[in-house]
Amino acid sequence: MNPVYARMGTTIFEAMSARARSTGAINLGQGFPEAQGPADILNAAARALVEKSNQYPPMIGLPELRQAVADHYATSQGLDLSADEVIVTSGATEALAATLLALVGPGDEVILFQPLYDAYLPLVERAGGVAKLVRLSPPDWRITADMLEAAWSPRTKLLLLNSPLNPSASIAGPEELAAIARFCVERDVTAICDEVWEELVFDGEAHRPLIAEPGMRERTVKIGSAGKMFALTGWKVGWMCAAPELARGLSKAHQFLTFTTPPNLQWAAAYGLGKEHSWFDRERAVFQRSRDRLAAGLAEAGYVTLPSAATYFLSIDLTASGIDMDDVTFCDRIIDEAGVAAIPVSAFYAEDPVTNVVRLCFAKSDETLDAAIQKLATFRRAIA
Ligand code: PMP
Repeated sequence: MNPVYARMGTTIFEAMSARARSTGAINLGQGFPEAQGPADILNAAARALVEKSNQYPPMIGLPELRQAVADHYATSQGLDLSADEVIVTSGATEALAATLLALVGPGDEVILFQPLYDAYLPLVERAGGVAKLVRLSPPDWRITADMLEAAWSPRTKLLLLNSPLNPSASIAGPEELAAIARFCVERDVTAICDEVWEELVFDGEAHRPLIAEPGMRERTVKIGSAGKMFALTGWKVGWMCAAPELARGLSKAHQFLTFTTPPNLQWAAAYGLGKEHSWFDRERAVFQRSRDRLAAGLAEAGYVTLPSAATYFLSIDLTASGIDMDDVTFCDRIIDEAGVAAIPVSAFYAEDPVTNVVRLCFAKSDETLDAAIQKLATFRRAIA
């Protein structure tokens, strides 16, 4: 086995879900919605399966989906992407892999921010790159120009930004985006933007894509996921958007990874992207309500939570809650003693972890959330 994989275990999400399945614990660990998903989009996929071609679609994706992605970003984010600048992938994960394989050369340095989504580090290393880790910390998880300069070297080629950020549920604000853009332009760095959570930004805030910042249009790869947009995480339909010169390299890497993505799911994603803006607003409102329900319930149960501006996640701050346990101990104990699975945020750090934050997924029914709150309240009283 390649040493990159040999030193890494099964992902924490898979491990926690397996434990939840075997113990019957309520799974607020892995980030997937409990609901079946939008019926009309599921029907669009079912119809396409029987009515449309099931043979290889074009390598870069169905033209209808590529156009739908470009149109959606024009109306929702004011971007001027053309369909030629969109490449459909098998989930955002493949888009990340293809982008890194296409753009990382041997020994190139890639700036990654911790907490980091688990795929980033092995992908960078298998692509021959060297990760330069920038540590973010609660409660604001802020990125500063000084952090970027400290991570920079003449070998720095890329920066990978995840905003909204999983697991912290924070979003990069206008000043951070401006600082990152200035850094990329001045240091000739290409940005890879993992924006899979872009449609799940709450409290009336707008998602701000780095590609819209001055000087970034030609040096950004913007990655999205239909699985996240339509609450169908198993679909693994994603895309990467970039100016033509960058896109040419990305399509080469994609060609030799998965080549294509199931056509019926592409048709259904195109259908979904054609929905009115108000549909996305309503979906977002449902998740925001669940966030508020979990936050209120946890507060009443004696837990202090961190702000959740986006994503499916809300975090407990153990220190602020007066709980003298690290995140791994807390997660081990609540799965065994309370019957609730959660994710320790230290699992998102490759070094020097934050150890007092625990991530919970609120994309669940009211009944599931209420049952989990009750169990966590009983646990809180037991350890008081
Ligand atoms: N990036 C981030 C930050 C994510 O949270 C996820 C899914 N949890 C992905 C990428 C993967 O997206 P997909 O399922 O479309 O591959």
